[in-house]
Amino acid sequence: MIKRTNRLSHPEDTVVRVGGDGCEAVDIGGGSLVVIAGPCSVESEEQIVGIARQAAAAGAVMLRGGAFKPRTSPYEFQGMKADGIELLLKAKAATGLPIVTEIMSENHLPLFENVDMIQVGARNMQNFELLKALGRTGKPILLKRGLANTLKELLMSAEYIMAGGNDRIVLCERGIRTFEPYTRNTLDLSAVPALHELTHLPVIVDPSHATGRADFVEPMALAAAACGADGIMIEVHNDPAHALSDGPQSVTPAQFSRLMQKIRAVRAAAADDGGAEAGALL
Ligand code: PEP
Ligand code: MN
Repeated sequence: MIKRTNRLSHPEDTVVRVGGDGCEAVDIGGGSLVVIAGPCSVESEEQIVGIARQAAAAGAVMLRGGAFKPRTSPYEFQGMKADGIELLLKAKAATGLPIVTEIMSENHLPLFENVDMIQVGARNMQNFELLKALGRTGKPILLKRGLANTLKELLMSAEYIMAGGNDRIVLCERGIRTFEPYTRNTLDLSAVPALHELTHLPVIVDPSHATGRADFVEPMALAAAACGADGIMIEVHNDPAHALSDGPQSVTPAQFSRLMQKIRAVRAAAADDGGAEAGALL
């Protein structure tokens, strides 16, 4: 049987439309490059609305922010949960940006009714009951690669969602665990062309979790733009030193704004036409 995720079953690129319901519609896939930005965790109304405004002004077309946080230690900040989702919805109303946030249990699905895209984090990539539940929702899903999972395993997880009737899936390469501890993870950028060969689903890159270092986010984001990613997701925080999670890998809004300009330039240079249509790329 040819799998639903296999490019042979669907030769054209899948384009996943996110939002459009009380916010902008964003199409992911098919050769354009979308940039998703926002903090690791939603921390307050002022924080999330402020970052959303600055991210939108810089050119981000979607807002990220964790409300349910999968933390390695149970004693670390676990997220604002339902209140965090309410604040994301306020930021969406204030800016028109569609929102993406992580789900950790299918029991929380009712809280995600007005969330535009549901993220499955690396730690839940093989939570098969959760994947089956998301297959029944019809909502756009951002499926992150597991910490130590192969591309074929990532695709089988996407297959669980598709088998349930939901083909609105975007894959995310966020770095994998290797023998090298110098960076938080090892960014497997060749996953982008490899996944484009294997599947019709869009592929985005998360250089923040891949490197764990704010100063490495720019070079890896530019590399992702150059290698054909359909999107880039970047953690942006107004005050990284005091962030409740992932401060060391978070860039400031000012750094993000400068990075956006470089991303546009790199993407244009890497285009087939050498940049003649640069304006159409973002
Ligand atoms: C996140 O996006 O904040 C996150 C927890 O990512 P990952 O699941 O890739 O570690
Ligand atoms: Mn994070």
